[in-house]
Order: sequence, then C-alpha cells, then structure tokens
Amino acid sequence: MSGKECFKILEKIFNPKKEEDIEDIKGYSIKYGNIVENDIIIDEVLVSYFKAPKSYTTENMCEINSHGGNIVMKKILELCLKNGAELAEPGEFTKRAFLNGRIDLAQAESVIDVINAKSEKEAKAGIKQLEGDLSKEISAIKQDILDVMVNIEVSIDYPEYDVGDVTNTQVLDMLERVEGKLKKLEKSFDNGKIIKEGIKTAIIGKPNAGKSSLLNRILKEDRAIVTEYAGTTRDTIEEFVNINGIPLKLIDTAGIRNAEDEVEKIGIQKSKEIAKEADLIIAIFDASKILSEEDKKILEIIKGKKAIIILNKIDLDRKLKKEDENFKGLTDSIIEISALNNIGIDKVYAEITKLFDLNEINIDNDLVITNIRHKNLISKSIESINKTREIINEKMPIDLVAVYIKEILEDLGNITGEFVTEDIINEIFSKFCLGK
Ligand code: GDP
Repeated sequence: MSGKECFKILEKIFNPKKEEDIEDIKGYSIKYGNIVENDIIIDEVLVSYFKAPKSYTTENMCEINSHGGNIVMKKILELCLKNGAELAEPGEFTKRAFLNGRIDLAQAESVIDVINAKSEKEAKAGIKQLEGDLSKEISAIKQDILDVMVNIEVSIDYPEYDVGDVTNTQVLDMLERVEGKLKKLEKSFDNGKIIKEGIKTAIIGKPNAGKSSLLNRILKEDRAIVTEYAGTTRDTIEEFVNINGIPLKLIDTAGIRNAEDEVEKIGIQKSKEIAKEADLIIAIFDASKILSEEDKKILEIIKGKKAIIILNKIDLDRKLKKEDENFKGLTDSIIEISALNNIGIDKVYAEITKLFDLNEINIDNDLVITNIRHKNLISKSIESINKTREIINEKMPIDLVAVYIKEILEDLGNITGEFVTEDIINEIFSKFCLGK
C-alpha cells in the first residue's frame, strides 16, 4: 500500500507481536505479527515499513509479506480494500514515483524494460536508464541549449546591445554540438532495437531441406535460452534464443516444427511470407542434391537481404558446393553443416555473431536508446535543429530563431516527461503490470 492513509489502514488489519506507535517505527524496518479480521487470524506475516519521502513512491508505504497462496493473499487484499484502500492501476506505484518527482519519465519507462528483459544485455540497458543515464545526457544537452538561449533572450529584450552576429555563431556552434550528440543517440537505437526486440530471424528452405532439424539443434543447445510467447496478433509462437549474447527472435517456429505432415511442410510461398518481416534469413539447402527450381526460388527471396546460406546434410554424398554459380553475389556467409549429426552448428553461431557484432556496443559504457518513443523524439529534435539552421541562414529575426530552439527543448523535455500530456502518461503506465 502506498499513500497518506496506508499506515492507518494497516493498523486496522495488522496485529504486531510488539505494539509500537507508528511514530516510533522507523522506515526500512520490518515487523512481525498477524493479519486479523474480527480477532480471527488470517495469516502470520511480516510487514515492511517505508516512510515518506524515502520510499518507491515517496509516499508512506507498507508491504505485507504473507505465506502466499491465492486464498490468503486475496483475503488480505480484500481486507485492505474494505478498510479504505483502493486497488492500484497497472503501473500506479511507478506512476506515483514519477508524478511525485522521484524519477523522471525515461526512468519510469525503464522499469518496465527491466521487468520484461529477455536477455542480460536488455536488462543492463534498462538498469542504466533507470539509474538516469539517459536523463543526465538529455539534461546536459538541454543545458547547452539553454546557455545559448540566455544570450538570445538578452538580445531580444535589450536590442540596444547589438549581439546579433555573435549570437548567430554561438547558436550554430551549439546546434552542431547538440546535433552530434543526438545523432549518436539516434544511431544507438539500431542496436537498442535489437537488444530489446531481438533479431527477427527466419529459417527458410524447401520441404525436407532440414529447417526443423536445424531449429531443434538451436533450441536444444545449452546456450540457447528459450522463452515462448503467445503471439498477440497471430496464433504463432515467438521464440527467443540467445546466441553468444545476441537475442534472436525466431519467426514462425511453430509452423516449422509442427510440419510433420508432408503436405504441411513449409514451402516456398510460406517462406516468402516469413522472410518478408525478417532482419536475418537463414536459407537452408540439401547439399546431397543439386539445386532444384524450388531452391532457386528460395535464392530469389534472399536477394538483397541479410542472409546466411546453409548447405545441410554434408554427411551424405555431396552434389552441392559453396562455389555453386547460383550463390554468387548473394551473401558471403555460406556454411556447411549436418543438422542430423550436429556438425557445423557452431559455425552458424559464429557467423551470426559476426553479422551482428553487438560486442561493438559496450552496454557498460555506451548509452543505448531502446525505447521507440525516445527515438522518435530525438529524431524530431534533430529535425528542429535543421529548421533552426535554415532560419538562421535565411537571416530571419532572432526571435523566430528562439521559437525554433524552444521546440528542440520541448522535444527533449518530452523524453524526461517535463511537458508530456496526461494522455501520454496514462498510455505509458497502462503497459505496466499490476503492483509495479
Ligand atoms: P524441413 O522440412 O526443412 O523442416 O526438414 P526436416 O528437418 O524435417 O528434415 C527432413 C529430413 O531430412 C528428415 O528425415 C531429417 O532427418 C533429414 N535430415 C535433416 N538434416 C539432415 C542431415 O544433416 N543429414 C541427413 N542425412 N539427413 C538430415
């Protein structure tokens, strides 16, 4: 529970072993006792006390730790509600922490990233943001802009001090500095997106090439951590595997695995569909046969895409070589494996690691944007910078320049939540889970 009344409500339902006045109970302390209703014990519990402003929400807070189990927990919750508490909305605790000024919006948003993290890198990026790294960078950029803004305001308010030219140079220098920093952040989103969403990977090939055998190899590997997600829009399963720290989101794995039946085996048409939304395509061919017309259609699909060609079944008599004419100019990544005998799978991993060198981004040192809302605002402020530059080059009056500069400040302020509207705030927190 969080809020002014929380200790009063607690008092009505909690019988501590050692009675103490709430004034005498210190924050960050735990008391032992029973939750009771009409003198009947509901459960034996521990209650943690947090006193304003030193709590998650900055309000008075208490946390009841019961033995768990649905019935008892529900009963305690009901008791709290009966005695005046209200059920929290999703993300309400974090929302209060934001509204009460303990954390800014970017930090609040990172809480959900930390909770939902599917890989260590993603969790790390979330924690960095929670610690305020992005907020600090944004405020440093804003300070740079504000320092110049002061000079502009002076020249607007006191036109008798002719600082015009000086100010223009100052503004242009500042815009360049700020743009450089923002572009770096904007670019980090390429990696941030991968960290957060995984590399959408499609395994394609004609029936019997070995798609499902390869998939099972990948999923069975010790280093592959698999999380199954019920697809939201389609009835498919999304599986995340971690390959040397690189998260792959395998597309339509259910379709590949369930295709026991010859008729249902994933063919060219389906391969085309899966490939369309992929960041990486793994195209697999049966090396014991020469390329068929179907195989050539598969090669058509990977044209111009980031792809790895796999020659499978190298344990059998070889008919297909890496040097085959048809592979020319498609990709440098051609790997020979035997999915059946577990040969060459490590080479597939090495190739993926090479293609997406996430080690390049050092999560410990570099700031990575993982949130699309932040990315869009950064792109928008870069646009505003360009507009401001145009205005200056067109020798427009300085008060107009000031208007555009304010726009940059506003976009950046929206990241940390200075100017955001209630609608945006509600939308952000509605994505949280209850109790966070
Ligand atoms: P998919 O239709 O592309 O998913 O292909 P499958 O993975 O179901 O494989 C088709 C057949 O080829 C199965 O009988 C597999 O056991 C066999 N197979 C897959 N990989 C290999 C391999 O490396 N060597 C050999 N000899 N057979 C394989």
